[in-house]
Amino acid sequence: SETRTPLMAGNWKMNLNHLEAIAHVQKLAFALADKDYEAVEVAVLPPFTDLRSVQTLVDGDKLKIKYGAQDVSAHDSGAYTGEISGPMLAKLKCTYVAIGHSERRQYHDETDEIVNAKVKAAFKHGLTPIMCVGEGLEVRKAGNQVAHTLAQVEGGLKDVPAEQAESVVIAYEPVWAIGTGEVATPEDAQEVCGAIRDSLAKLYSPELAQKVRIQYGGSVKSGNVAAIMAQPDVDGALVGGAALDADEFVKIVRFRD
Ligand code: PEP
Repeated sequence: SETRTPLMAGNWKMNLNHLEAIAHVQKLAFALADKDYEAVEVAVLPPFTDLRSVQTLVDGDKLKIKYGAQDVSAHDSGAYTGEISGPMLAKLKCTYVAIGHSERRQYHDETDEIVNAKVKAAFKHGLTPIMCVGEGLEVRKAGNQVAHTLAQVEGGLKDVPAEQAESVVIAYEPVWAIGTGEVATPEDAQEVCGAIRDSLAKLYSPELAQKVRIQYGGSVKSGNVAAIMAQPDVDGALVGGAALDADEFVKIVRFRD
């Protein structure tokens, strides 16, 4: 839509150490230094150990690139060995945090209840959640992708007030398209992203639904991003593998060129 600023976010997963992160963000900043990209918001989601380095670079050079984490604890502090809290991410001036990525759901048993608690923790500390939803192959084969994904949206946003929900980012990522090279067709992406927006209109209001940005994720590359972005309810992309190559990610960000 014309009214929603597209958000292109690179999910680095468990790749790039803090030195590699600095080199990568410098490349992005250099390639995006002209005015062209101002109509698109660009964010990177590096591993936790990179965030301080990225913050220093972005702050020091006044870069427009935003950054965030790939997960956050539902708790503010305490005996949760290995976890990273919302206040810690807020202190590092993170803008975004991915929540409920399919790899977290799959390898760390994150349920919609956990996702919901983390979404609330993010908002509590001024972080914008990128809440990830999407069906696996079996669900897709059975034709239940819309119902499955909407249940995740509803579960993840349970008891989240409209003042917060209006700034959530929802990433629709069909699991069968993540890291597989098998991208959803633009029509597949639109079907579910459109259904997510309709469901936000029912859960909250049509006005709120028009504000929320809905990303598509799953094997997005420079060669397929424009067709996906042309869909009316797709407002950006969450990019995994292709975001590790700075040149390729820049081409994705410049999908309108
Ligand atoms: C992701 O991890 O969010 C993702 C979409 O990965 P890929 O682009 O590699 O499919």
